[in-house]
Amino acid sequence: MCTGEFTNNIPYQQQINRSRALHYLSFLKKQITEWEARNFPDTPDYRNLLGMGEEMGELFHAHLKGEQKIRQSATQTKEKKKDALGDLLVYAVNYANKNNLCLLECLEHAWAEVSQRDWVKFPKNGTSE
Ligand SMILES: [Mg+2]
Repeated sequence: MCTGEFTNNIPYQQQINRSRALHYLSFLKKQITEWEARNFPDTPDYRNLLGMGEEMGELFHAHLKGEQKIRQSATQTKEKKKDALGDLLVYAVNYANKNNLCLLECLEHAWAEVSQRDWVKFPKNGTSE
């Protein structure tokens, strides 16, 4: 669930962009929820989790074959990556929604932590040594 609360002090323009992202995510969540209710009623959250795993596998496959330069052209590789990553995100939006998590807040939380790590300066733990 997205609260709309800002997780840190961000400039005004970023707040506007965040607000737009929340609106768009809310719009997507509603559409995905309605689509799933129509096509797969009473889907438990773990199926979305399994779907994320399936799409991750498809992404691995597309990446591997693209790197090996077999079975598909570079254009097909890009399309397959785009398809798998997009499907994975649809599942992730739905999984987050069913677990009362806001995907945007998950991303912001992760980035707030990851962005503080400096692996060049602190190769052991990213923060102090
Ligand atoms: Mg797929």
